[in-house]
Amino acid sequence: MAEISSLRCNNHPDREAVARCPDCRQSYCRECVTEHEDRVLCAACLGRLTGVHRVGTRRPGWIVFTIRCAAGFLLAWSCFYLFGRILLLVPNSFHEGHIWQ
Ligand SMILES: [Zn+2]
Ligand SMILES: [Zn+2]
Repeated sequence: MAEISSLRCNNHPDREAVARCPDCRQSYCRECVTEHEDRVLCAACLGRLTGVHRVGTRRPGWIVFTIRCAAGFLLAWSCFYLFGRILLLVPNSFHEGHIWQ
């Protein structure tokens, strides 16, 4: 078939394509494809595939932990603050209205 030889590499327009990536369906030259788990993938798809396995690389765990701690602390603090304000407000009317009469 003359179909594949007429195709050009997606990254190098001056080079002939030797393989087609099964993931993105683009044709690539020998330099742009890599064998990975018995499949010939382009560099972009290989990076995407291997990136899935390395989950923690995008955002380190300690950052997520710190953000969660800060968010939890702020939430707890604002709850206690509001609760405290309500406790300060309630007894005044309570005492005046009912208990000291
Ligand atoms: Zn691809
Ligand atoms: Zn290429």
